Amino acid sequence: MAKSKTPGKSTARDKLRIHFLANLGRVMDSEELRRVAGNISEWARRIRELRTEEGFQILTHNDRSDLKPGQYLLLDSKPKPAFGRGISKETRALVLDRNGFTCQMCGAVAGEPHPYDPARKTRLHIGHVIDKSLGGTDDASNLRAVCSVCNEGAANLTLDRPTLNKLLVQIRRATSADQLEILKWLAKKFPAQAAAILK
Ligand SMILES: [Zn+2]
Repeated sequence: MAKSKTPGKSTARDKLRIHFLANLGRVMDSEELRRVAGNISEWARRIRELRTEEGFQILTHNDRSDLKPGQYLLLDSKPKPAFGRGISKETRALVLDRNGFTCQMCGAVAGEPHPYDPARKTRLHIGHVIDKSLGGTDDASNLRAVCSVCNEGAANLTLDRPTLNKLLVQIRRATSADQLEILKWLAKKFPAQAAAILK
């Protein structure tokens, strides 16, 4: 993805990076950032690249419920290793599909309100089961879907997979309305098995 770059002339992405780093902790709106980027129409895409390619944790209303759409905030000057860098589109798709588009730590579903912060839409990333710093690989077998809340450690409860017993106890104690939701969700997830059971 090497883009030709005029030497000595900073690109819109460079300008945005410098601006974000100079304004850590200050909420900025789209008007300001578009201006910083030189009023190019692709300013938002350049911000996305700072997130996805350079790993800057630029927050939006999808990440924090106190931000309005069009607001951006960078708190940490240190980029995190970009998620899934070097992981192919195909592998990402495979892992997300295998994990049912569900965070493997907290169970949040992509695109749905996050259970710990309902104002926030769940956004999934590809995470490593065994961290790369501990020798984990980018192989699909070492990857899993993790939501941005868990990724940031905000939820900070690496939920162990509940035992069947614990799970049944929880479900039995739930309201009928919630039990019905679970039934619907399971029937949708296992349509063939559901049909066979109901026969
Ligand atoms: Zn999660």
